[in-house]
Amino acid sequence: MSNRILRLLSISAAIFLAVISVAVTRSVLATPALRPAAQGNAYVEVCTWLDCKTGAVSYSQDDANNIVPYSVNTNTNSCQIDLENAGLRGTFYYNGGSSPDWLTTLSDAGHEVGSHLVNHDLNCAMPPACAPTCTLETLLQIPYTITDVNSFRQGQIDPNVAAIESRTGKPVVSMAYACGNADPGRMAAAQSYFAGVRSYYEPLPWGSNLTWIYDVNTPTPDEFMLLNADWYFHQALVDSAVNENGWDIITVHDYCEGINALKNISHTTWIAPVGEVLKYIRVRNATQITNYARSGTSISFDAVHNLPVFQRQQLDGTPLLPIVYDNPVTLRARVPMTANILSVQANGVGITYTVGVVSGTNYVWFNTPLTTSQHIEIEGDAPLAVRVVHLSATPSAADATPALLVASGASVCLLIMWTQRQRRRRGRQRG
Ligand SMILES: [Zn+2]
Repeated sequence: MSNRILRLLSISAAIFLAVISVAVTRSVLATPALRPAAQGNAYVEVCTWLDCKTGAVSYSQDDANNIVPYSVNTNTNSCQIDLENAGLRGTFYYNGGSSPDWLTTLSDAGHEVGSHLVNHDLNCAMPPACAPTCTLETLLQIPYTITDVNSFRQGQIDPNVAAIESRTGKPVVSMAYACGNADPGRMAAAQSYFAGVRSYYEPLPWGSNLTWIYDVNTPTPDEFMLLNADWYFHQALVDSAVNENGWDIITVHDYCEGINALKNISHTTWIAPVGEVLKYIRVRNATQITNYARSGTSISFDAVHNLPVFQRQQLDGTPLLPIVYDNPVTLRARVPMTANILSVQANGVGITYTVGVVSGTNYVWFNTPLTTSQHIEIEGDAPLAVRVVHLSATPSAADATPALLVASGASVCLLIMWTQRQRRRRGRQRG
């Protein structure tokens, strides 16, 4: 009789604890638990970088005289061949108003040709008013007129971008300020054309001495028109990008340092041209995930981004090539370790996917463009409900979110309580 009551009490306590455990997990996870710059809900999100890699690095080389391909000039400083031998692609910033054939050589090989203005040295001769002691604050406070903006557009940007696009047939997505000389007028001008502009730390007499630029960018840069960058290749900044899940932009001129170091980390860190990373960030941050549902062995949801096509034109109205945000981004969904994933479909078509554990949590991830709405169906061989949140032993700064840890902690505590109760119960029964 008393044994029976004890057993009933134990069972109801266990059920109660299990319900509480799920409720705590659910309610905590239901509140937004997004890492910086990631979009999604607690179960599905856009990875910070393509293929869910940790950190992004771009390799950029400046100036028309340095970037001429080897096939055109065997004495070139160009990093094209070194990058390609490492299986990587870079960004080449071209200054000038002409359209040499070799721009196509770079572009067709998958490199980005970016803008570096028409008259490089004219830009170098115009440091901002706050130089050489600028801070980001004093730089952004420099007044400018619409005449400044228009003259920079017409004289420096329009002919350069038109020259590149007419040869490559691809939109120029990013620019680099010559000598790093930027100010709010030039930033306002650039805004009409580019997804982002690389700055540069160069002291006087040529540059603006923008000391803070020598840094990595956060997953969503603070100033798209004034991106941080290395002034050469420094391993410390690459390490920062990896450790902080940020974005390092390497800048070289006449030496191709660091390419093998990037090759060695390319399986875990995303190495891509500046423009590709910019497009990824834009789509990642504009992604909307709706209609998330789990039922039995399947998970489904819809994903789309709301970015308009970036229609650009020269100051006189002549159209430039539009930037279309049709680049794929990586989506990932939490799945239990107890199930094998059998398929992932986007709008009814099977796509390739990867399953792996990140900081103790099991995910399936896959790439898809989001220009049009994608209905995603994930199918497993066992129920896909995530019952237990796995507590990460060593969560990385990039992947740990307080809510997840709280939820994991709560689940683990309740599990321990439940297990102890069961043990006590068994002990009593044996005794
Ligand atoms: Zn330059």
